[in-house]
Amino acid sequence: MFDLLIKGGTLPDGTVSDIAITGDRIAATGRVEAEATEVIDATGDLVSPPFVDPHFHMDATLSYGIPRVNASGTLLEGIALWGELRAIATVEEMVSRALTYCDWAASMGLLAIRSHVDTTPDQLRGVEALLEVKRQVAGYIDLQLVAFPQDGLYRTKTGRENLIRALGRGVDVVGGIPHFERTMEEGRESVADLARIAAERGLMLDLHCDETDDPMSRHVETLAREVTRHGLKGRAAGSHLTSMHSMDNYYVSKLLPLMAESGMAAIPNPLINITLQGRHDTYPKRRGLTRVKEMQAHGITVGWGQDCVMDPWYSLGTADMLDVAFMGLHVTQMTHPDEMARCFDMVTNANARIMGLQGYGLKKGDVASLVILDAASPTEALRLRAARLAVIAKGKVIARSARGDARLSLPGRPETLRRRH
Ligand SMILES: [Zn+2]
Repeated sequence: MFDLLIKGGTLPDGTVSDIAITGDRIAATGRVEAEATEVIDATGDLVSPPFVDPHFHMDATLSYGIPRVNASGTLLEGIALWGELRAIATVEEMVSRALTYCDWAASMGLLAIRSHVDTTPDQLRGVEALLEVKRQVAGYIDLQLVAFPQDGLYRTKTGRENLIRALGRGVDVVGGIPHFERTMEEGRESVADLARIAAERGLMLDLHCDETDDPMSRHVETLAREVTRHGLKGRAAGSHLTSMHSMDNYYVSKLLPLMAESGMAAIPNPLINITLQGRHDTYPKRRGLTRVKEMQAHGITVGWGQDCVMDPWYSLGTADMLDVAFMGLHVTQMTHPDEMARCFDMVTNANARIMGLQGYGLKKGDVASLVILDAASPTEALRLRAARLAVIAKGKVIARSARGDARLSLPGRPETLRRRH
């Protein structure tokens, strides 16, 4: 007798399998002929491990328009605007916005999130708020926090000290923003400093790195070197890396093997960077997304991150990682069937590897977290941004949505329309 049995679903690799759940674990797969307290028929539907977002800002989310909108649409105005919002935000208000966002995420089958939290203000209100949120959502969302010195590690008097204080309070990952330090030299120093802090404390490292159109912003090179030096393979990531879009091809041909050697991962954020980058260009306007396919060809793990939903930097978003992958697919022209399938893999398995999630997957013994989608395959899920028919978190059904069907009133045509193909 199982607690929950999902019958006949199609897994991302195309195999058809039942999934039986006992408590918070997957107890059996394949063909399961046994009773269960609850049975969900997933015949013809895609059953996937949950979506994972390795790059988000939960202290800023759902604040769009407070106290004003970002008129220029640039990263720099976004940072200035966040400074204004941060000054008036309270712990209670940040907790409330973040919990609402986690409701959205749960409904979208997004069950693991790495959120940066700004450690610039001495009061560390964001840290207090997101540690509280992490505790409250632990039953259904794995929330990993990154100590993020938004205004620079060295650019403010207490930037470094506050980052260390945040780590002391239980923030999981070391963050940074070398391209926002005062000089290239201080940016380089910050990367070395942060990698040392991560190594000494046995923590993961995830830097906002080279989020600029300046091709001379080459902190990713230092990051790769420091990851190798400190043996942070598999525990370090560079987020954004947009300058790589504008770099000289010869230089990149030297850079990519260095990155691959280090074992670092990359987290491009296509929704935000297709809107932020190229703002100083006339025409042609650069896309500003990093070199995803080229990194993957070198064996570098690349995931898609969401970064922002309705905040000082980005005015849209719904916590849908399929939206993120859909945009990434378009901007990087990953249109081959294998590449489209890989885009889905990036917002599930690759992102889970980047976050170091344990027990992630659909094998016997894995954590019983999964999502049933109104689609037959990963590529169809992307094309439709398919409805999440059911979301199961640690063995419990936590959300359901209706199919994305339409009703037609056209003589001689079908009454209901499902855009499957
Ligand atoms: Zn970010």
